[in-house]
Amino acid sequence: SKHARLDRFISYHKGISRRAVKPLLAQGRVRVDNLSTCSADTVIGEFTRVEIDDEVLQAKQPRYLMMNKPAGVVSATHDAQHKTVIDLFSGEDVGDLHLAGRLDYNSTGLLLLTNDGRWSRWLSDPRAGIVKRYRVTLRDPVTQPMIEAFQTGIHFPYEDLVTRPAALNVVSAKAPYIADVALGEGRYHQIKRMFGRFRNEVLALHRYAIGPYTLPVDLEPGQTRDVEPKLPSHWS
Ligand code: URA
Repeated sequence: SKHARLDRFISYHKGISRRAVKPLLAQGRVRVDNLSTCSADTVIGEFTRVEIDDEVLQAKQPRYLMMNKPAGVVSATHDAQHKTVIDLFSGEDVGDLHLAGRLDYNSTGLLLLTNDGRWSRWLSDPRAGIVKRYRVTLRDPVTQPMIEAFQTGIHFPYEDLVTRPAALNVVSAKAPYIADVALGEGRYHQIKRMFGRFRNEVLALHRYAIGPYTLPVDLEPGQTRDVEPKLPSHWS
């Protein structure tokens, strides 16, 4: 389990009884996140640093990254046929990174990666209201019925659901086939399927923001950068 009481944690990692842990705590030999503690019920999480004297029992760093996904790579950690976004970390230790959300093979732009399940769950939880923003290039111009249907919701028969209100805005009246889409959820091929309902085709799809994270203009395709977790403290 990811959380344990300090005395159980030490007992497990040292292979000693909880009774034997007591004097270690009483003698001030245990440090949790660099502070000496004698409380047996201190909660130890996945990323809590725990030391006894000079011995480190656990020191795992949480990681939070953004990537500018290039076209032609799969948003997955393993794939039998194609290059994955994880393969773009040449030589670097990717450890236990996983993806917080995906983009289609030919889609580009902002992807978030982490080894912290709390962060990725927050980003994908519909209750968190994390808005994802896309710039799309279409074969045919955006029409008023499309804008209204995106706002009202479109029925997906396969999942039997109605999409949540989505904002569809043409970027410039001079180029009505280029538009911004803001989604509060992420269904399989969602944007392509929404335009497909109008027999329009998505030629290019680029995600430029997820909630509080915006893709920086100087982050080249295939590159990654650290981000702040920004996880609300009240979040479960
Ligand atoms: N909608 C799509 O159709 N594709 C993506 O990659 C993201 C959203």
